[in-house]
Amino acid sequence: MVGFQVAAGKRGNTLHDKQHLNKIMELQIRNLSKTYSNGVKALDDVSLSIPRGMFGLLGPNGAGKSSLMRTIATLQEPDSGTITLGDLDVLQNKSEVRRLLGYLPQEFGIYPKISAYDMLDHIAVLKGISSGRRELVEELLRRVNLWDVRKKALGGFSGGMKQRFGIAQALIGDPKLIIVDEPTAGLDPGERNRFYNLLSEIGEQVIVILSTHIVEDVQELCPQMAIIDKGRVLYSGSPADALYGLQNRIWSCSVPRSSVHEMTQQLPVISTRMVAGQPVLHVFSEQQPADGFSVTDADLEDVFFTYIKGHKPAGQA
Ligand code: ADP
Repeated sequence: MVGFQVAAGKRGNTLHDKQHLNKIMELQIRNLSKTYSNGVKALDDVSLSIPRGMFGLLGPNGAGKSSLMRTIATLQEPDSGTITLGDLDVLQNKSEVRRLLGYLPQEFGIYPKISAYDMLDHIAVLKGISSGRRELVEELLRRVNLWDVRKKALGGFSGGMKQRFGIAQALIGDPKLIIVDEPTAGLDPGERNRFYNLLSEIGEQVIVILSTHIVEDVQELCPQMAIIDKGRVLYSGSPADALYGLQNRIWSCSVPRSSVHEMTQQLPVISTRMVAGQPVLHVFSEQQPADGFSVTDADLEDVFFTYIKGHKPAGQA
């Protein structure tokens, strides 16, 4: 079983902490690189500015998202580069950063026989919360909508309930930086919606980094985003600007199943979607790529595949 990520050290609430927190505005990542001992370059000169609010880090599996999240969460060292949170040097002040951090890792282990209430209370103890703990635990259980099942064993929870419990534990100690790594994988649409609502509420006050390979997560929640693949940042900015860059450049055509392979060889196809059982090719092109194609309104999935396939929309570096 994977253990909980519990912040090291006790939570302080000194005047210095408060003054410090007020100064926290942005997470700045500069020239971060990491090559694992097996030779995989998971992070390749990553630079990002992440403001308050929900920030979507979008990339396919293996892109380097978890490596970046773990590095920001001070759980692993980069080979080079810097990270600052406000004026705090993240890599040099790990225990201070952990006091400001709420982390929901990809593999979130739970103790199946313990109730939600007892587990949350236990984590709060480990995080150094003593006075007001009962009120805090009760408030968090209500906030993530698990109050009615607080006495039930975690092992019987659905995927969505487990993720909401994961958010509750990440919120202990009023974090200023929250990292959630692939939180919606495996959730059904209703659970995903409840989780979106919860995250968007939280995202108003603090920095929330949402790492995901699911385009819809970013579309629903994030005013700012980055696309990464093979350890490199391919786009960073707002979804709206990314969409603007694709205006009049995404062409679509419904084609017979038998021609998909050939057309994919011949044209800069970024994706094939199924619409009512029929393949529809999406192509990135400045002009009409072939007869039958018409310009279509780009969506975030087009943005994602355009960058992943290595195209550079106008106005982008
Ligand atoms: P993502 O979260 O986007 O799926 P990861 O950061 O987990 O990406 O992985 C990026 C790349 O680094 C992948 O090729 C993965 O196999 C590799 N990788 C991740 N962790 C390790 C590790 N501890 N040792 C060696 N390779 C790793």
